[in-house]
Amino acid sequence: MKKIILIKYGELSTKGDNRHIFISILKENIEKALQTEYKIIKNHDRIYIETEQIDETVKALQNVFGIHAIVVCYQVANEEEVIKEAALNIISNMSGDTFKVITKRANKDFPINSQAMNNLIGGHILKNSNLKVDVKKPDIKIKIEIREEYSYLYSKEIKGLGGFPVGVGGRALLLLSGGLDSPIAGYLTMKRGLAIDCLYFESPPHTSLQAKNKVKQLTKKLQKYHPKINLYVVSLTNIQEQIYQTLPLNYHITILRRFMIAIAEKIAQEKNAGALVTGESIGQVASQTLESIAVINEKSTMPIIRPLICYDKSEIIALAKKIDTYEISIEPFEDCCTVFIAKHPVTRPKLNLVKEHEAKLPVEKLITEALSKVAKENISEEKHDLL
Ligand code: ATP
Ligand code: MG
Repeated sequence: MKKIILIKYGELSTKGDNRHIFISILKENIEKALQTEYKIIKNHDRIYIETEQIDETVKALQNVFGIHAIVVCYQVANEEEVIKEAALNIISNMSGDTFKVITKRANKDFPINSQAMNNLIGGHILKNSNLKVDVKKPDIKIKIEIREEYSYLYSKEIKGLGGFPVGVGGRALLLLSGGLDSPIAGYLTMKRGLAIDCLYFESPPHTSLQAKNKVKQLTKKLQKYHPKINLYVVSLTNIQEQIYQTLPLNYHITILRRFMIAIAEKIAQEKNAGALVTGESIGQVASQTLESIAVINEKSTMPIIRPLICYDKSEIIALAKKIDTYEISIEPFEDCCTVFIAKHPVTRPKLNLVKEHEAKLPVEKLITEALSKVAKENISEEKHDLL
């Protein structure tokens, strides 16, 4: 009896006219995620996958956003006898004392209605097993979907990642540091259907190659959810040194952040991204007060998405462990922001004062210079282990 994989979309079903675009992008994303041999069938409301390697395929599908549930099911002819046989096959692989049959007859040409099918298949199971019926809290639910060409029978659904297929919402540029937060911000952004590229600011020789390697490995972890993520690297060395030499120490971080946003916005525009993404979370560090965020924001005309803005650190850590970025992020290599860091950066920066300070620097020249040396990293060759 043929087993296939059925994909359920969940939230997608509410998307009206855009539905076919969503499903096409989801199909493409599934094709990118699967390394197994498979045949994929898309119709107006479902995606089915035929493969010999069911377990590996299910595992890969669990990393694809936009999938609500993954169901391994029997695909059989729309015939009473075969459906009966498939129902017995299902219970033979399951443990429990009670059951319930739930039929959905989408194909109204099928002569037996849903309730009659429940009774018919239920009766067959009662006759051929020791199970009893319990319609309220059954141990085993046998679901039967009678569709146009075939009927599908299953009991369990495997939870998918949910969200929207990556790409349906457009593209954003993630400011990715080596820390705990920004990779999670990237993950959550992709979950809502935005494709991302990553941008890392380094300050060689003040920051090391190991710090950059961390970021490459984090990008690779994010690629598990969408293989086409580029990593761009920009040097802030000159900017950071000039800030250091010229401006009061407690304003360094705020002004450095403004440079980052200005540079990121230019790169985003060039790469057709419509938003920036950061891992900021209110109150986490001095530069993440509302006043500080407002001053940093002022540098951008693009929306800045901050998926973690109201997350607790413990929630972020739990997600980092889930997506396997935690161990990489906690490696202690210095970030460009920590190199010349003040012990007490200003927590309530004033915009007019910030602008006064900035006026002492050749801001545009520094930005243009940084932008002239954007490097695109090749991460496909990176190993998973550190260094
Ligand atoms: P993270 O854990 O993501 O490093 P954080 O808690 O250390 O965040 P900050 O250092 O204040 O917070 O950085 C805030 C955000 O600014 C980061 O989440 C990231 O999006 C961006 N950012 C900081 N440093 C860099 C960098 N070197 N390159 C790219 N983006 C950066
Ligand atoms: Mg950081």
